[in-house]
Amino acid sequence: MQTAPTTDWGQMQPGGLIDACIDLVLSRTCVGCQVLGTTLCPTCWAVMTQQVGPFPMRTPWPVATGARYQDQAKAAIIAHKEHGVRSLTAPLGILLASAITTLTRGPTLLVTIPPHRSSVHARGADTTLLIASRAARVLTDVHQPARVHHLLRRGFDNGKHVGRTAVQRRAAIDGAFQPRPTQIAKLSKFAGYRIIVVDDVITTGATTLAAATTLEAAGVKVAGVAAVAGTPARW
Ligand SMILES: [Zn+2]
Repeated sequence: MQTAPTTDWGQMQPGGLIDACIDLVLSRTCVGCQVLGTTLCPTCWAVMTQQVGPFPMRTPWPVATGARYQDQAKAAIIAHKEHGVRSLTAPLGILLASAITTLTRGPTLLVTIPPHRSSVHARGADTTLLIASRAARVLTDVHQPARVHHLLRRGFDNGKHVGRTAVQRRAAIDGAFQPRPTQIAKLSKFAGYRIIVVDDVITTGATTLAAATTLEAAGVKVAGVAAVAGTPARW
């Protein structure tokens, strides 16, 4: 799972040319240490891959993260999310896949957190979905069949959580997600698949908890929660 990074993270996807141009302009240096010549150097990647493990959080479900949300991993996630450095989709997908394998080794459905509409508009993509889709491919490639399944939608858009306390976040996301009955009905085609709620970063965990709780209230059994990274304050 700890693949050494190169410039070839996999086959180029539709829209890859534009992404590659953005990378060329914004990513002539490593996001972790600013060494020239690569978006993410082997040294920074090696550090990030040493941090996968359980995320300490009181929930009914096991929670795992691929890295700690600090230093190299934090820089990579921000570059991918806020600056459109799409060549980081692959390594971030590997980190998420690594976290998921600590939760389950069988067939897996990944349920992403529905983004704020304003975020998708500003970033030009649902960046968490990009990472989750890549994680699903990584898992499938190592014989753990996985795919993304959209079981949730946002009930209402109540703004970003940055700057809010944990209590304020919980209040803000109360009722933020709603199940998608049509998609949930299709779960009958995926007998034996375990459902993992995935996100890019876990901070207080309030968002992922709300998503998992919404799913279970709709009769969907959640096996765990995984994220690319978790805030180090939790350790
Ligand atoms: Zn580096």
